[in-house]
Amino acid sequence: MIQFLDLKKINAPYESAFQQKLESFLATGWYILGNEVTTFETNFAAFCGATYCIGVGNGLDALVLLFKAYQQLGKLQKGDEVIVPANTYIASILAILQADLVPVMVEPRLETYNLNPDLIVAKITPKTKAILVVHLYGQLAETDEINAIATKNNLIVVEDAAQAHGAVFEAKSQEPRAKSQNSKAFSFYPSKNLGALGDGGAVVTDDEEVAKTIKSLRNYGSQIKYYNDHIGVNSRLDELQAAFLNVKLPHLMTENEQRRKIAKRYLLEIKNNKILLPFWDLSAAHVFHLFVIRTPNRTHLQAYLKQNGIETLIHYPVPPHQQKALAAYNKLSFPITEKIHQECLSLPMSPVLTPAEVNFIIEVLNKY
Ligand SMILES: *Cc1c(COP(=O)(O)O)cnc(C)c1O
Repeated sequence: MIQFLDLKKINAPYESAFQQKLESFLATGWYILGNEVTTFETNFAAFCGATYCIGVGNGLDALVLLFKAYQQLGKLQKGDEVIVPANTYIASILAILQADLVPVMVEPRLETYNLNPDLIVAKITPKTKAILVVHLYGQLAETDEINAIATKNNLIVVEDAAQAHGAVFEAKSQEPRAKSQNSKAFSFYPSKNLGALGDGGAVVTDDEEVAKTIKSLRNYGSQIKYYNDHIGVNSRLDELQAAFLNVKLPHLMTENEQRRKIAKRYLLEIKNNKILLPFWDLSAAHVFHLFVIRTPNRTHLQAYLKQNGIETLIHYPVPPHQQKALAAYNKLSFPITEKIHQECLSLPMSPVLTPAEVNFIIEVLNKY
């Protein structure tokens, strides 16, 4: 069976380094917000070409805390509207709701699965104060166009980069250069391109005020122990997870390159008119967190692949506006989003997929 994502295999090369980290962790006896978190924050900020990184408990909290920080700074108010792609993972929407803001969903482009900038302006009202851009499946959204709309309409842009570690900056020069100065939220959930061995997340920003506020909010709203400036939460990046992430970060670019190689092969070699391949403008940054195809009869294709020993997953089977949890949105209609959710299928994609496995997947798909 070719697993969709073999996490054990992905982490295997790092196991002895993880063990060393665990031993020194035990030896220091310092368990919360220690040197490993600080080191990771410094290195991940540099990796992203940004000034600040603040480690938090998970990706959802990274988004929630960003929205709360903008409220603390007087730049957002409860009840403000936030534009968000209708086809995102539900965490993006939940973050907006948890920060007492109102999500306004906008359709993606069918080809890229990312927010369609042409449809944003029609959704802007006097209450619209922000846009949450999502780089879905690892492909950079049309951030330049979206930033231009935001500047014109005086909106804050926040980027959900939970699936896009490494796609949000250009590493062509010696110094990484961030593609935009928007604040970004990352997740280090184990299956992400940079995955911990448990939960983890981070906010990356160039805005000193935002950075300071989030640093306080993640730790009970306190900068100095027992002195509280904000109504904060407890959402800190775990010291041991930071230690593991410090082992993996130097290899992220290589792992992303492996993913891109596999994606290139899928795009060039899968030839079957029942299978619609994702659009990838080779000049656009894409780190292939997922390789998502579309097919009219998904159930049939998924069963066929399973019979042939190939595991696939669906990202995602139900769009947020049709979820039971979001009953207030159930009557809305988003035809492109709904089509994507009915037809999408994620092929195995990971840096440890072997060329022989990729050959086999392509062969089986071409015979379908
Ligand atoms: C994974 C993910 C999140 C949430 O991250 P967690 O660490 O699981 O909380 C948010 N947005 C997107 C697009 C994601 O893929």
